[in-house]
Amino acid sequence: MNFFHPQEIRAVLERHGFHFSKALGQNFLTQSWVPERMMTDSGVDKDCVVLEIGPGMGTLTQAIARYAEKVVAVELDHALIPVLAETLAEFSNVTVLEGDILKFDLSALCNEHFAGAKKKLVCANLPYYITTPILSYLLESRLFDGVCVMMQKEVALRLCAESGSADYGAFSVFTQYYAEPEILFSVPSSCFVPQPKVDSAIVYLKTRSAPPVPVTDEKLFFRVVRASFAQRRKKLANGLTSAFGDKERITRILEELGYQENVRGETLGIPDFAKIANKLAE
Ligand code: SAM
Repeated sequence: MNFFHPQEIRAVLERHGFHFSKALGQNFLTQSWVPERMMTDSGVDKDCVVLEIGPGMGTLTQAIARYAEKVVAVELDHALIPVLAETLAEFSNVTVLEGDILKFDLSALCNEHFAGAKKKLVCANLPYYITTPILSYLLESRLFDGVCVMMQKEVALRLCAESGSADYGAFSVFTQYYAEPEILFSVPSSCFVPQPKVDSAIVYLKTRSAPPVPVTDEKLFFRVVRASFAQRRKKLANGLTSAFGDKERITRILEELGYQENVRGETLGIPDFAKIANKLAE
């Protein structure tokens, strides 16, 4: 079949009695250049094993299977399992697992399917309704060397934003603490069936083998980050005081670290949040 012709895609799906679910973020790719470029730009090769999230009808899965040593694809929608059995029948290096990616024990999955692999990657056209929880789950697991994913362009800009910019926020800090994100290319909404209302972008996140700066207590570090962005328009001291109490101690710490009394969280980088959190941890 021509995998990239919307009419043929619809014909296969209809034959299996499949109906697109908006709630599951189902927008399937119809342009072959997108998975091809995802593979080449992120350097997927036979040294790589790949976890794919949400294979849909297997469009991206086929490209990964051609470039990588092995693919394990996790799909939540039970109705797509027989479709994938048909579209991926010719690939012996693909395993499809049914379930919610957020309920999988990723460590057990890697031990079972990827033991001894040189390079472990994640590739996905993410279901947009859970982009943030999925990325958090993947990055916190610290199991993968890189993550190459399609997401809403607006979210991609937030992940990659630098301190001081309008897109910069707690999730930029979170992502950049675990990885070095880079936008590889944009994908217009005309590349999907059904077409989403927003444009998309492919982001490659090269995961860090160690945090970019020493952090004594990671939980506390992320509490500081969230508190610093909770009241964007307000002073950092107020945000931190709301979260941690003890205004005097907060004011003293910020002063000792050399910050102006009216400093705002959105102007600080990861080393700043680390300094504040490490001091609070003392
Ligand atoms: N990879 C296909 C493509 O590019 O054409 C489909 C991508 S579509 C944007 C997202 C896919 O993720 C759908 O197949 C949807 O059923 C699946 N999905 C949604 N939530 C999921 C979850 N929690 N775990 C695993 N798969 C999920």
